[in-house]
Amino acid sequence: MPDNSSQRPSDFIQEIIKEDLETNKYEGRVHTRFPPEPNGYLHIGHAKSICLNFGIAKKFNGLCNLRFDDTNPTKEEVEYVESIKKDVRWLGFDWGDRLFYASDYFEQLYQHAVQLIKMGKAYVCDLSADEIREYRGTLTEPGKESPNRNRPVEENLDLFERMRRGDFPDGSRTLRAKIDMKSGNINMRDPVMFRILHAEHHRTGDKWCIYPMYDYAHCISDSIERITHSVCTLEFEDHRPLYDWFLNELNVFHPQQIEFARLNLSHTIMSKRKLLQLVQEGHVKGWDDPRLPTISGLRRRGYTPESIRNFCERIGIAKRDSMVDMALLEYCIREDLNKHAPRVMAVLRPLRVVIDNYHEGQVEELEAINNPEDAGMGTRKVPFSRVLYIEREDFREDPPKQFFRLAPGREVRLRYAYYITCVGVIKDEKTGEVIELRCTYDPATRGGDSPDGRKVKATLHWVSASHSLEAEVRMYDHLFTKADTEDEKDGGDFKAYLNQNSLETLNSCRVEPGLTNAKPGTRYQFERQGYFSVDPDSSNGKLVFNRTVTLKDTWAKIEKAKK
Ligand code: ATP
Ligand code: MG
Repeated sequence: MPDNSSQRPSDFIQEIIKEDLETNKYEGRVHTRFPPEPNGYLHIGHAKSICLNFGIAKKFNGLCNLRFDDTNPTKEEVEYVESIKKDVRWLGFDWGDRLFYASDYFEQLYQHAVQLIKMGKAYVCDLSADEIREYRGTLTEPGKESPNRNRPVEENLDLFERMRRGDFPDGSRTLRAKIDMKSGNINMRDPVMFRILHAEHHRTGDKWCIYPMYDYAHCISDSIERITHSVCTLEFEDHRPLYDWFLNELNVFHPQQIEFARLNLSHTIMSKRKLLQLVQEGHVKGWDDPRLPTISGLRRRGYTPESIRNFCERIGIAKRDSMVDMALLEYCIREDLNKHAPRVMAVLRPLRVVIDNYHEGQVEELEAINNPEDAGMGTRKVPFSRVLYIEREDFREDPPKQFFRLAPGREVRLRYAYYITCVGVIKDEKTGEVIELRCTYDPATRGGDSPDGRKVKATLHWVSASHSLEAEVRMYDHLFTKADTEDEKDGGDFKAYLNQNSLETLNSCRVEPGLTNAKPGTRYQFERQGYFSVDPDSSNGKLVFNRTVTLKDTWAKIEKAKK
């Protein structure tokens, strides 16, 4: 059992906040925000940011806003906005009445830009996007000034107004901050503040044909909402001087930007662009495909909000990028479901077993324990009859040395039921495949214990053939065969590492009759098989399950190997 509490990295963000509270930097207020761009579904990396931002607010009696960073009308959709709200709520967080949109601030952003123009700190530039890139220079060479850099204020004001009015085509002009083309920080080389884009926005419609850039919109949105601590991922560290520049020049409320390392998870991807590609090209069934690291995918897979919050707590906050092993996420859901999910018997690959000495037509209701970890979860009755199913892999005609389960002539225990002995093997005449076992049972072993103390080496799960329900079970494996597909950068194709066997569908599984009408989202442990949740594809009479996670704790193994 890993216990990270002692080795959890000290949370430097909380230290900063505690200090700010002591010095009364923001009148003792703590106010954070979670600022997703509605251009895709949230993933487990976002969950880390959500837990962090809402968690800080909770811990310090502060507030956390949900703000949509909707400054790019061409990639954003209402579907994403709705899914994001649903996911944040599902994770257990509440933004109260503080749901905001950067697009609500377009007018203020425009007015602040006018202010900067008047101060001689912004200008309209006629260079094309390619030219701006060319003029920007590199890490080793300084940039070149735009020929429009010293345009008179009046002319800038006029052109900027006409940009807004729609007088110019897309890409023909930009508004740029006038900072320093020789700055060692490329972000400070006269960054673009507004671009022309004649595109319909999901909230403002066609009111605007100029849209603010992220760096300009973000700091001012934070300021307008009087955010105290603007927590973001490390790649924005080099943008912080620009964040501070805008707010200083405008002399408005100034939040503190703090960066932390983003979450990278093994065997999956976190880039929204790549996730979108997998969805659009049909490599997965949708944004909520249980193989994806999206919140909706994890939910469908059977993850609980508690397990995800727990995971985010465990990985902690760091200043350096690293890769977290998927095994830790799996450990967290296993730990949760072990305590809370009822156990049932389900046979994934059925092999028919006929108990020769059990009366035809007889049925016994045997008592089974719902969760040995929690006596409070009680017991249930499971029907036993003459014809049963056991797991195909629990029988071997020629058992190798270490195989202790059923084999010809051998006795095993059926969980909660009886000892049975295999007395015959029936095969398909053509293929030679084993299609049925003939067994006998010992009536004295009812409940699974032998009064004479006779030992058996294996306990198998089973279901009654006529009572059990048919089910489809979807078995998942890692989406990628390689732990880190990001290191391929742009040269390699991440899709080359897609695991072709990430989904195996088993169509003729059998589950205990007690699962009739199991509601989508209900989670179970299938004894000896893993944790499973009911998929929304289940419909009248047809149950569909997703395997959430196996029973094998690979995380404990990884931890042990480290020691
Ligand atoms: P994009 O590539 O579209 O910018 P993004 O992952 O940055 O994608 P946003 O919607 O901008 O997506 O993210 C919202 C918030 O979630 C941001 O504050 C971002 O820093 C944070 N975030 C995104 N990905 C991760 C991650 N892997 N780990 C931690 N935080 C993340
Ligand atoms: Mg982003």
